[in-house]
Amino acid sequence: MGILSRICKELMSTNSKKEKIRILESYLSNMTPEEREVLIILLLSRIDGYTPKVVMDAIGDFSSFYHGDVYEAVMAYLSTLHYRQRSLTGESLDIVTIVNSLLTASRDNRKIALKSIVSSLEPEDAAFLISSLLGDLRVGVKEGTILEALARLCGRSYGEIKEIASLTNLRDMVRCKFSQVLEPLKPFSPMLAEKALSFQEIIARGNIWAEPKLDGVRILVHKKDGKVRIYSRRGRDITPQFPEIVEYASLLSGDFILDGEVIAKEKGSVAPFQSIMRRFAERRNVSIDFFFFDIPYYGRVLVQESYEKRREILESLTEKYVERKKVRSEDELIQYFQEVIARGFEGLVCKNPHGRYRIGTRSREWMKIKRKFEVDAVIVAAEWGHGRRRKWLSDYHLALWKDDELVEVGKTFKGLSDEEMENLTKVLLSLKIKDIPGGIAVKPKIVVEVEFEDVQLSPKYERYALRFARIKRIREDKDVEEAGKMEEIERIYKKLHSESGYS
Ligand code: AMP
Repeated sequence: MGILSRICKELMSTNSKKEKIRILESYLSNMTPEEREVLIILLLSRIDGYTPKVVMDAIGDFSSFYHGDVYEAVMAYLSTLHYRQRSLTGESLDIVTIVNSLLTASRDNRKIALKSIVSSLEPEDAAFLISSLLGDLRVGVKEGTILEALARLCGRSYGEIKEIASLTNLRDMVRCKFSQVLEPLKPFSPMLAEKALSFQEIIARGNIWAEPKLDGVRILVHKKDGKVRIYSRRGRDITPQFPEIVEYASLLSGDFILDGEVIAKEKGSVAPFQSIMRRFAERRNVSIDFFFFDIPYYGRVLVQESYEKRREILESLTEKYVERKKVRSEDELIQYFQEVIARGFEGLVCKNPHGRYRIGTRSREWMKIKRKFEVDAVIVAAEWGHGRRRKWLSDYHLALWKDDELVEVGKTFKGLSDEEMENLTKVLLSLKIKDIPGGIAVKPKIVVEVEFEDVQLSPKYERYALRFARIKRIREDKDVEEAGKMEEIERIYKKLHSESGYS
């Protein structure tokens, strides 16, 4: 058995994140930097271009064995072929050779490269490799787990390693080599906000600066030696999409990195989030505006400076900054929250006046709190879950009344506990009308209280769809006839998207 199977099995043998980190660290510490790099690439499914079609062209069609798990399907399929290891030396290829040949194969050669690799692997190794290529390696390891293991390996704190990770490449990371610098024209992951559960929680740590939360797309506007580039939150170069911002940034003096949000505008008001996405997807001409809320670099790195200091610098450079209000009590906070919601914003991002800028990190120095709405919806269909939830119907189609008909307004898999899902699965199966792709349609009997943050226009559903929906509880006390009406969310949509935030 090769190293990939061994490590995957060990990782799968525990649900504890701590234990997974320990396992990873112990493997990584016994590996060369090249081996560490490819192991991480495999665990995070970072080898692109191996689609189900390429994979099946290479090893054969295993789709009839697929019941929700690639590993199991490939194992079952290979066993029917009386699969055996065919390498002449009897020795499996090492993971560095495997990953490098997969990464360097040209598009036309991917099938052949994969075929030859798989033919020299034990079935288990082949099945894990293919699960990784298809993004279905269920070993419970995400980027955070890997970073924790690397932090231990390199003797750094998790916070430090997170920042380093967004400024340097994997090759240097696995060598514990940290030559990272924040500089304009070099993309990085911006600071993120933690979700607050209550107003009280936000103010408990002292006075804060509250800023309206703009519902658009994050932009990082870099300028160096007169050259302007705009990067997304994930480091994608989105400069061509926003010529207005390039023009504006060119007029500002000095080298800088401005952190802010671009929003779509319609007839002078803030348009729904979807409109801004259209700029990306359809290159349609949507009119935009943009506002900045931070400046991690201006002539020098400013991440160590306090929020207060950075805002001062920001406001001296540009007038297009997000408004803010100093808040000293819970009452003041609630009042400002209500004010910005009434003005059409999504909520608040509350910032610690002394907080530094934490690159690539979700931090309590910034806490977000968003508006929420509620509606009672009816479950009209449900889909089977994935991974741990594959035994349960866990993705629920929600519907509301439109006249005397129930109309779907989206689906959600969020909110219910495992136990509730297990019970609901039994009930829904007893209400089954027919099969649908991935699940079943059911008789409308179950009413759930749903919390959501926004309403959007939907091409898929009948006009409106709930955004960020989550089930709060099952309303056993309510009959289907008492469920919410489409007009309710239509009203919310109109309210949210007609009033201006920044106009
Ligand atoms: P979320 O996407 O819900 O995690 O919220 C965080 C996002 O809110 C950030 O990535 C920004 O794109 C956006 N945002 C909008 N207004 C602000 C603000 N004033 N300060 C920080 N982030 C903001």
